[in-house]
Amino acid sequence: MRTFSHLPLRCWAEIDLAALERNLRQIRASLPAHMRYVAVVKADAYGHGLPQVAGRLMHAGADLFAVANLTEAAALRELGPGWPILVLSPLLPDEDRYLADYDVAATVSTLEEVDRFNAAGKAAGRTIAVHLKIDTGMGRLGVWHEEAPALYDRIARAPHLQLAGIFTHFASPDDDPDFTAEQRQRFLAALAQFPHLPLADLFIHADNSAGIETMPGASPFNAVRIGLLQFGVLPRAGSLLATVRTEPVCSFRTRIGIVKTLPSGTTVSYGRTRTLTRDTKVAILCAGYGDGLPRAASNRAQVLIGGRRCPVLGRVTMDQTIVDVTDGPAAACGDEVVLIGRQGGGEIEVAEFSRWADTIPWETLCSITKRVPRIYKTALGT
Ligand SMILES: *Cc1c(COP(=O)(O)O)cnc(C)c1O
Repeated sequence: MRTFSHLPLRCWAEIDLAALERNLRQIRASLPAHMRYVAVVKADAYGHGLPQVAGRLMHAGADLFAVANLTEAAALRELGPGWPILVLSPLLPDEDRYLADYDVAATVSTLEEVDRFNAAGKAAGRTIAVHLKIDTGMGRLGVWHEEAPALYDRIARAPHLQLAGIFTHFASPDDDPDFTAEQRQRFLAALAQFPHLPLADLFIHADNSAGIETMPGASPFNAVRIGLLQFGVLPRAGSLLATVRTEPVCSFRTRIGIVKTLPSGTTVSYGRTRTLTRDTKVAILCAGYGDGLPRAASNRAQVLIGGRRCPVLGRVTMDQTIVDVTDGPAAACGDEVVLIGRQGGGEIEVAEFSRWADTIPWETLCSITKRVPRIYKTALGT
């Protein structure tokens, strides 16, 4: 969507790129020194904006970028040649040829993919980089761990493929350490079956943000694959990862459209789900589910006005949301309101906001809509 940047902001996301860079450094500092950093920037860098985020992570020293699809890979490649890029999702057959055009690595799960990508490399007169993915219990992409050797052999014998990495993905790293340990064991057992593996030349990666909480000190893993944590958001409340001192990168803000007082007994918003039990001063916010404040958070979410929490009254609507400011600070037309982020002494974290909407932080970040301009704080302070 075009943003008419001369117009005042009504609802926006502020993205602090210096905080992003500090987060990457903090995460790195918490890991063994040899660990390489795969920056996961799929879905427009979790809604933060792919070019801005990737550019800053390049500056901060990310080793490889992971994206979901070729469109994202092409957008990333436009920023410059040389950066290794891995596409995490399966390619469609008519997409294969673009692996060479954009110089990106593909994820391989099946024998058919090996043959397809090898043929694409042959047609382009070059080799295609691939990361072999092993399914250790996620049940999504990857070759089932017991069948990994056959796939490894097929890659080793494909003249136009170059093995650049081997990886797996955890199903419950944030709440099931036993199953995560089982997945690690299966991954290690599969790796042990590949003869003459040049481990040091490959990216061997398993851990996403939550995974690094239980990552063993010594292992053949030499890379991590980080999405959420680099944006300063913990996978769950109380995570041990709180010891990695990351800061929130994104805050989500709007402003007050009008303030008025309604008499006790009035019902507010669509569906009349909320009846006022006292004379109530309400503020009507310039944001709704059309911006990424989920309707599921109706009657549950809180916002910050003047640093104080104010509850949402009734249903969130497409463009407006009603909040109770009776007990709150002086609230006036035009005042800034925080949906996610800090204001005064108050803070609303992505995790809390997500619970109000019955969702998870990943989905919350992806759900801030295109209508919401991203405003970048680009100071170099690290
Ligand atoms: C999205 C994704 C990640 C990043 O996970 P976070 O929990 O956001 O760190 C890592 N690996 C794969 C395969 C993914 O799809």
